[in-house]
This record gives sequence, structure tokens and C-alpha cells, in this order.
Amino acid sequence: MTITGLADLLDLQGLDLDIDRLLDRRQGLPELEERRIVQEEIDGLDAERSEAADRLRSLELDLDKSEGELEMLETKLKEHETRLFAGGMSARETEFMRLEVQSLRGQDEALELRVIQMLEDVEPVREEVAALDTRIANAVARREELDSMIAGEWKVIDAELARLEAAKKTVAEPIDPELLDLYEKLRRLKEGVAIAVFDHGVCGGCHMALSPSEQEQALAEEMPRCVHCRRILVA
Ligand SMILES: [Zn+2]
Repeated sequence: MTITGLADLLDLQGLDLDIDRLLDRRQGLPELEERRIVQEEIDGLDAERSEAADRLRSLELDLDKSEGELEMLETKLKEHETRLFAGGMSARETEFMRLEVQSLRGQDEALELRVIQMLEDVEPVREEVAALDTRIANAVARREELDSMIAGEWKVIDAELARLEAAKKTVAEPIDPELLDLYEKLRRLKEGVAIAVFDHGVCGGCHMALSPSEQEQALAEEMPRCVHCRRILVA
């Protein structure tokens, strides 16, 4: 193995480490973490809103029904009263109508009270749904803001990644495919560092010293490897 090949490999590793760092940064943006939290918040609020909206619908349905009943009751009451005021009925009919009007008035008052209570009950639920809508809208706006920040940062990172990938291709071209293969395998095993500078008897990968006899032995090999970590050594 020529020294040139190993020097190229060291350059390649420099590019690969830069790529690794960029990929880590790409996936580790603080905005991504905040977006996950905001999304969870939106999901929770959506569930809360759907539950509150169901409650509101049911209350409004009951209210509509009662208001309809009240309207009918009042119409009936008016009709009876009109007939009563018009007169011309027998004493028995008049007495029956009088009692009927009395009963209808009682029903009307009771129903009116119920409708008022229902109106009071429905109001806080309407407010609850409206408040949830506001919170959801705010969270969605924040998520959109984060999305655009993330997209902006990714655009810069991806352009840099493309540049590094292109540089990598150029650097890797003259390197022996077998050496590249070993390099890739070692990188996977050794936290991305397959080749290390050997300086003053110390391996730049594991930072351990090689004894004079170990150095002699390692450097005598066609491809010097650290006796401790097995990384490729380049002088
Ligand atoms: Zn080592």
C-alpha cells in the first residue's frame, strides 16, 4: 500500500467525519425537538377540542329541542287564550279552557326556566371550545414557523452535504476498492474513525502508545495497523 493511498484515505475520512457531523446536526436541530413537543401539544388539544365539541353539540341539540317545544307551547297557549277571550263557549268548555290555559302557563314557566338554565350551561362549553380553537391556532402557527426554520436550516446543510459528497467522490476515486472496503468496515466498528495519524509513537485513534518493537512490527506491514485498536495508521 502506498503512502499516497493512505493520505487520500485520511482526506476521505475528514470528509466523512464532516458529513457525519452535518447529519447529526441535521437530525439534532433544537427546532426539531420543539416541533415534536408542539405536535404533541396539538394532538392533545385536538383530542380535548373534539371531546368538548361533542359535549357542546349535545347541549345545543337539547337546547334547540327545548326551544322548539317552548315555541310550540307558547303558540298553543296563545291560541287557547285567544279562544278564551273571544268567549262564546259553554260554561263547561270555558272552565275546561281556563284550566287548560293554567296548566299550559305552568308548563311554559317551567320550560322557560329549563331553557334559561340550558343557555347558562351551554355558554361555558362554547367558551371552552373557542379557547381551545385559539390555543390550537397558536400552536399550529408555531409549528409552521418551526417548519420554515427547519426547512431553511436543512437547505443550508443539504447544500453543504452535496458539496462534501461531490468532494468525497473525487477523493475516493484513486483509492483501491479493497482498501475502501476495509475503511468502510472499520469506520462502522470504530465510531467513524478507521484511519489515524501515527505521531511520536502514539495512535491518533485510540491515543495509546506503541512500544518500539510494536512500532517496528506495525510499520513493517504493507498496511500499518494499530496493535491496540486495529485502526489503519498513517505516518
Ligand atoms: Zn489505536
